[in-house]
Amino acid sequence: MKSTIHACPNCHAAWSGHPSGTVNCPECATVLVPLHLDKDTWDRLSDEEKESRKNETFKLIAEKPAEARLLSQEYYLRLISEDLHTIKILLICLVIAFPFLIFLGLIG
Ligand SMILES: [Zn+2]
Repeated sequence: MKSTIHACPNCHAAWSGHPSGTVNCPECATVLVPLHLDKDTWDRLSDEEKESRKNETFKLIAEKPAEARLLSQEYYLRLISEDLHTIKILLICLVIAFPFLIFLGLIG
């Protein structure tokens, strides 16, 4: 699974990590909040965009905690479904490649 970005509501630092676990800030030990972005997307954002993403998320969590939680669950499920999609493609490749490999073995 891709690593995702979490931010610290206390010191505003951003950290990448596994999306499912609750992580504490390595700087100040505050519980981090997920920003629902994978690391690649995050790295492409400008400093201002990063800052506004963080502030939006902190605001949502402060004002609408239930909605923020729902967003996290949705994001997590989407990551799982992306993983399943990757596994499916791998399996299809395997199923296609396997008879071919046997065939190569037979003529080789
Ligand atoms: Zn912190």
